Amino acid sequence: MANILITGGSRGIGEALVKAFCNNQDRVVFLYRSQKERADALAAKTGALALQADVSDPWAVDAAIASAVAHLGSIDVLVNNAGVSQIKLFTDLTDEDWETVRSTNLDGAFYVTRAVARQMVRQQSGRIVFIGSMWGKVGASCEVHYSATKAALRGMTLALAKELGPSHITVNCVEPGVIDTEMNAALDAETRSALAEETPLCRIGRPEEVADAVLFLSSEKASFITGQILGVDGGFAI
Ligand code: NDP
Repeated sequence: MANILITGGSRGIGEALVKAFCNNQDRVVFLYRSQKERADALAAKTGALALQADVSDPWAVDAAIASAVAHLGSIDVLVNNAGVSQIKLFTDLTDEDWETVRSTNLDGAFYVTRAVARQMVRQQSGRIVFIGSMWGKVGASCEVHYSATKAALRGMTLALAKELGPSHITVNCVEPGVIDTEMNAALDAETRSALAEETPLCRIGRPEEVADAVLFLSSEKASFITGQILGVDGGFAI
């Protein structure tokens, strides 16, 4: 049984992560931004603890991590999953668009990981998994800000793996392909089927398939794996 902290746990891939770790008999705390009813329902169903915290707010993050540690005693596994996306022409992006995506996807991952890494270094153990995106590897047209933040998570993964390795902390990144969540709800049927066709496995992925990869990287079976970027994308980014 391990103590797990997941950001963005209220729906989509985060919800699948909460369920997977709880099914694994782990103790789970998850953060969410706004969907209190859904977060509370998931917490009631799984036994996880839901905490409201906007990851782009460093003070909110520090308070939430303190609450998580008070509840769990320690954090063994951190999954940086919270993220937002937006589809817009690069030349139409406003400063606010850039700021919204960067502050959640990149700054948020920094604030949460910094707070949790302080605990993990003290305890001399831990697992950190970033949820990147295949678009951070291959780039998405009309999602330049999103792609840039996800590419930055690759750099964070590699650098942190080196820095935290001597403290027996592994750091890896999972890069999902097109996954069936609300993040893709705005895509029309034609775009969805074109993306499925472009995927070598000829379909869109399920949130549970991403959760399974994260569970593996967080398990004892992955004890000598660090600094790795694992695509869970049906082969899209090959
Ligand atoms: P969803 O939009 O379904 O869920 C996003 C989750 O992140 C929600 O729990 C949301 O909370 C939370 N969240 C968003 N912003 C913040 C914030 N500022 N502070 C705290 N929590 C926040 O997304 P997915 O499940 O699809 O995506 C999860 C991760 O996977 C993201 O990092 C995404 O970039 C990545 N990904 C997704 C892909 C896909 O095809 N779906 C492909 C590649 C990567 P609330 O419910 O309260 O709003």
